[in-house]
This record gives sequence, structure tokens and C-alpha cells, in this order.
Amino acid sequence: MRARRAGSRAAVAALEEAAAGAQRAAPRCAELQPLLARAQERLPAVEAEVAASEKEAQLQQLKAKVTQYERLEVGLQCVVCMDAKKSVFLLPCKHLCMCTPCTSKIMAGSAQCPVCREPVADWFEAFM
Ligand SMILES: [Zn+2]
Ligand SMILES: [Zn+2]
Repeated sequence: MRARRAGSRAAVAALEEAAAGAQRAAPRCAELQPLLARAQERLPAVEAEVAASEKEAQLQQLKAKVTQYERLEVGLQCVVCMDAKKSVFLLPCKHLCMCTPCTSKIMAGSAQCPVCREPVADWFEAFM
């Protein structure tokens, strides 16, 4: 009996101790509450920022790819008309720089490679 009462007294003491602890912590909790609320308020904005920065990164990657592709396209364009694709190898300089119609025109005129100005002795169409 006595032991049990002592036990329950100890339990009450522990509860009182916990309550006192909670009371001591309460002002601190009240202090933290607005911080927590602010953090929770800011959370969607932060999440949106993260999503936006991820999208931005994806956009940058896509742009880089487009630029790469454009460079590749420009690299494939005939240096004379800047429109058709390069399709002719010039000899002896071995430049691949013109489309077939432009090569015909050049050969009817100066017969010089538009890149290195070397006289074109022969040319042939290449297929990519
Ligand atoms: Zn051309
Ligand atoms: Zn050339």
C-alpha cells in the first residue's frame, strides 16, 4: 500500500515536474509560434522558387541544345547562298562549303573555292 502510494506520489511529482517544464517552455513556444507560422507561410513560395529554378535550369539546357543545333545547322549551310545545305566537295582543296547550284554558278564564273580561293580543278557531290 505504502509503496504504491509512494509510487503514485512519485508519478504526481513527475507530472508536476513535467507541467512546470511545459510552463517554462511555454513562453519559448509562444516565441517560436510566429516563426513557425512564418516558415509555413513562406514554404509554398520557397517550393515555387525551387520549382521555378528547376524549370529555369531545364530551360537553359533546352536553350543550349537549340544553340548547339543552330550552330550545327549553320555549319551545314552553303557559305554562298546561306540557305541550302553543303553538298559539294571541291578538289584539290577538299573544302565542303557549297550546295550544288552555287557550285555550278561558281564553276561558270571564277571557278575558285569561296573559302580558300584555290582554283577548283574538280568537284563532286557528297551525300550526308
Ligand atoms: Zn548555295
Ligand atoms: Zn577551298
